[in-house]
Amino acid sequence: MVNEKAIFYSSEQSRLFAQTDIQFFITSKHGGFSTAPYETLNLAYHTRDQDSSVLLNREMVCKTFFPNKMLLWMDQIHSDKILEVSKQPHKSGFVGKGDAMVCTEKSFACMAMVADCNPVLVYEPKIHTFGVIHAGREGVKKRIVSKTIAHILQNPKAKVENMLIFIGPSIRKCCYEIGNELAISFPKKYLIQKDVTYNLDLIKMLQDELLSCQIKPSQTEILPTCTCCEKNLFSYRREGITGRFGLIAALR
Ligand SMILES: [Zn+2]
Repeated sequence: MVNEKAIFYSSEQSRLFAQTDIQFFITSKHGGFSTAPYETLNLAYHTRDQDSSVLLNREMVCKTFFPNKMLLWMDQIHSDKILEVSKQPHKSGFVGKGDAMVCTEKSFACMAMVADCNPVLVYEPKIHTFGVIHAGREGVKKRIVSKTIAHILQNPKAKVENMLIFIGPSIRKCCYEIGNELAISFPKKYLIQKDVTYNLDLIKMLQDELLSCQIKPSQTEILPTCTCCEKNLFSYRREGITGRFGLIAALR
């Protein structure tokens, strides 16, 4: 039985993805086992939540969303490192240090963990290959999304016009205030100037990045949700010490 409270959004609700061979979920912060300040569905060990709670949460999510698949995860480091999922990963599901996982195997469900960073899915349906990406400020700056797309397009049967992209909830321009010392490293068109600070628009930056890869807006779904505004999701900016929710995807 699926734990409905644990779902914030799923591919079944998506105009772009519902009819495809990939299934994904954005988890909410509800329906898990962690206690405050990680209540309750924290999926990340690196938050200093109790490991036993995180393990229970991951097991619940995998069992209810993707029964019979193995849940794979990365030690996310705000890099542009892409990991190929091998046929025999570590028994704990740990794939390695990096921020994108590329997978062609039906037996795995791949997870990116976030609490303000962008959870991104890239999918080439004709070659049944997908990538799950953790793209925060550093990852977007390093163009990890286009690098993952390029990685998938190395397969000679892959075509850019087949690609489908999903960008889940993340901190948006309404809430993403940064100081001048950070703002100077971003092009002006992605900054909204306040009195002495700026608000950063990473979604606009990602949209431009996708256009530069020849991916049309019709191939892209971007959820309108800001994590800092949405109380059913974890937000590092809003809560400081907090959990992580997940984008979890698998081939049908
Ligand atoms: Zn907001």
